[in-house]
Amino acid sequence: MRNTMDIRDTYGPEETYEVGKELAKQARPGQIYCLDGDLGVGKTVFTQGFAMGLGITEPVNSPTFTILQEYEEGRMPLYHFDVYRIGDVEEMEEIGYEDCFFGEGVCLIEWASLIEEMIPENAVWVTIEKDPQKGMDYRRITIHS
Ligand code: ADP
Ligand code: MG
Repeated sequence: MRNTMDIRDTYGPEETYEVGKELAKQARPGQIYCLDGDLGVGKTVFTQGFAMGLGITEPVNSPTFTILQEYEEGRMPLYHFDVYRIGDVEEMEEIGYEDCFFGEGVCLIEWASLIEEMIPENAVWVTIEKDPQKGMDYRRITIHS
């Protein structure tokens, strides 16, 4: 059973960016943030704000073909995963995910539900959804553990 912590409504990418940035300020080493939601919903926008909140100024994009991108510039390492194209969980082992999951940095995983069985119990889940009735740029961001 998941426990809802917070729901945030945003009305444009800059607001989703801000939610990511705010959350990063509370992030602690060893935390795992799981991002869920359809293609184009704003997972990468959220990640870009999160990176900025950690003090990372280099550009952050979806590492679609590499699964993992590491950023060392902020107040702690950021391990940005995008597992959209993952074939099976062995690929996670090949890239050494355990050093990230159980390391001194913070992990952010786009499409985390595709590898749900690998996600530790204490991860934070961030679900982003559209609601066409509220306009093209509306997103509901649910943060739960
Ligand atoms: P994902 O990583 O989930 O596939 P992206 O972050 O790459 O999605 O893209 C989200 C797209 O939606 C961007 O083009 C962004 O400008 C647009 N967008 C519109 N409204 C919002 C919003 N409220 N929050 C985030 N992105 C938004
Ligand atoms: Mg993305």
